[in-house]
Amino acid sequence: MSATYQCAYCGEGNEALVDPSGGDEQTYTEDCAVCCRPNVLHISISSEGSVTLTAELEG
Ligand SMILES: [Zn+2]
Repeated sequence: MSATYQCAYCGEGNEALVDPSGGDEQTYTEDCAVCCRPNVLHISISSEGSVTLTAELEG
């Protein structure tokens, strides 16, 4: 499944792929497609299967 987040640096929308088999709570780093800076993504998957994705600055 995929979810969208707003880059913590430039504010542009990005799409991230989420693997539900990785667990209900996941954190990983992905580079913004627009400014190429690393965003730390916090992913939460509810019991209904909806994904909440927030991005923050790395470090
Ligand atoms: Zn960006």
